[in-house]
Amino acid sequence: MVNGRCSRRRRGWIRPVVVIIFRLSCLILLLALAACISTPTPTYKTHNSSKYSTHNKHSHNSKPVLRYVRANDTLYSIGKKFGIDYRLIAKRNHIRYPYKIYLGQRLYIDRHAPRRNDLTAIKIKNASKKSHKKASKKTIKRKTHQKKVKRIAKSSHRNKAKGYKGQLRWPVKGIVTSKFGRRGSRMHDGIDIGAKEGTRVYAAASGEVVYADSRLSGYGKLIIIRHGKNLFTAYGHNRRMLVRKGAKVRAGDVIAQVGHTGRASGPHLHFEVRQGSTPVNPIAYLPHR
Ligand SMILES: [Zn+2]
Repeated sequence: MVNGRCSRRRRGWIRPVVVIIFRLSCLILLLALAACISTPTPTYKTHNSSKYSTHNKHSHNSKPVLRYVRANDTLYSIGKKFGIDYRLIAKRNHIRYPYKIYLGQRLYIDRHAPRRNDLTAIKIKNASKKSHKKASKKTIKRKTHQKKVKRIAKSSHRNKAKGYKGQLRWPVKGIVTSKFGRRGSRMHDGIDIGAKEGTRVYAAASGEVVYADSRLSGYGKLIIIRHGKNLFTAYGHNRRMLVRKGAKVRAGDVIAQVGHTGRASGPHLHFEVRQGSTPVNPIAYLPHR
């Protein structure tokens, strides 16, 4: 009984207090809302909006996913699993053709959709085997055009190949150790003729030396001779160059000595023939041996 009275008294005292607290909190809430609506400080607004835009773009879509290569995985199968072109994964992880991966290898996979430019750039990169970073649409167009011209030149060259036979003379005595054309994933733009260090290198035809330097990376000491309007011959990896830029040479003149300067594993002559800027198979221009 005592407890009952007491609690009734307490209830009678509590109810108005609860009502007051409720009303106060409602008022505070309303005031807070009003403040939010009427006074959005510019800093808050810009800060938030910029944060949101970048947040949406990056942290959800382009955060790369880390994936370890498992048994039976191929770059292609991983690409298929994530819905991404495998060449993009290869590019992202600096994996080159023929795209070998190994068990436990770490791969970063960007989940954002591949852009068209990236794909065309990769295609062209694979075709020409040259690194073109950030290829713009214009350069892509130009490159595909160049490729077409190259292909036409090659096919027409193949047809006329017999007609050119003997137009040039062999630039060095030796055996062809590497042919013209695709060599693994790269193009070999000339032929390699193996010869001892210091063997004489001859001009393949009369013409003018238009380049004699070692600035072109990989070729070492390189000589380029122009014959007529559009035909060029190039002689790479020389030990010594015996002619200078601007010199007029005759077919058979000694122009250099065989060496292994530049990117060469041993002494040999790297010999190129170019129609304009297009490399063509030198064998088609040289007499039968
Ligand atoms: Zn070569």
